Amino acid sequence: MEYYSSHISRLIEELGRLPGIGPKSAQRLAFHILNMPEEHVEKLAESIRSAKKNVRYCKICCTLTDSEVCPICGNEARNHKQIMVVENSRDLAAYEKTQKYEGVYHVLQGAISPMLGIGPDDIRLKELMRRLEGDVDEVIIATNSSLEGETTAMYISKLVKPTGIRVSRIASGVPVGGDLEYIDEVTLLRALEGRVDL
Ligand code: ZN
Repeated sequence: MEYYSSHISRLIEELGRLPGIGPKSAQRLAFHILNMPEEHVEKLAESIRSAKKNVRYCKICCTLTDSEVCPICGNEARNHKQIMVVENSRDLAAYEKTQKYEGVYHVLQGAISPMLGIGPDDIRLKELMRRLEGDVDEVIIATNSSLEGETTAMYISKLVKPTGIRVSRIASGVPVGGDLEYIDEVTLLRALEGRVDL
């Protein structure tokens, strides 16, 4: 990268740290940004800064939100005794798009992955177990059907079972390794309705 000025190199380097952005994409984005009108660049930079500053984890379900308690946890009309466990806020959004799920969520912010060195303590499991001390009827495990998602589902079911709370897993139909956010709403609904007790 020594053919570029240090400012450009730094921009390319920072963009290249983003997931899914290889060196070529980073270069392309960097030059695109440099060609953008100054005000657009300011807007982009400001939106990143303000999102980072204002977005936090809901103190109940751990999803990303900009208030202490997210709108779903704060909604009295939802069934707070039914908790769907998902890996991230994007998966939560996928289920919300179906407009058919009336329970609440718990967002793990990850999945257990021995290969990547991510253990149970690295995701929001303690927070989930604390919630289960309250009045809960069912935990629906909706982690992805990847190896990590299945490992996490198994781990959670082992933790929850002794509490006597019903534990279920969304049905197959969600393709293996499939990211929930890319699956259509009908398939998601079918997976939810066809969930099986663990
Ligand atoms: Zn919440």
